[in-house]
Amino acid sequence: MSEPGEHRYVIHLPVVTANLGRAAFLARALANSVTFLPEIDTGETTVSTEDQQGVHHRVFCDRLLDGGQRCVRSWQHPGRCLPRWP
Ligand SMILES: [Zn+2]
Repeated sequence: MSEPGEHRYVIHLPVVTANLGRAAFLARALANSVTFLPEIDTGETTVSTEDQQGVHHRVFCDRLLDGGQRCVRSWQHPGRCLPRWP
């Protein structure tokens, strides 16, 4: 996703929630709200606990679909993968 001369960075945004599932829900909501920004790779969004920031939990399926789009459903979702709506 990066062009020559560009580098990938990770923005850490702490949140306070009841559990990891709720944190993943918030991460998906935040990522979905910024899909208009081409610099952000929303499919690669992960969450971690504050005391284990090296352990990342994916929040999106992000499976590559026919036509080159990625699945926008949650990680390990039931049923079929879905592309992002245009
Ligand atoms: Zn999927």
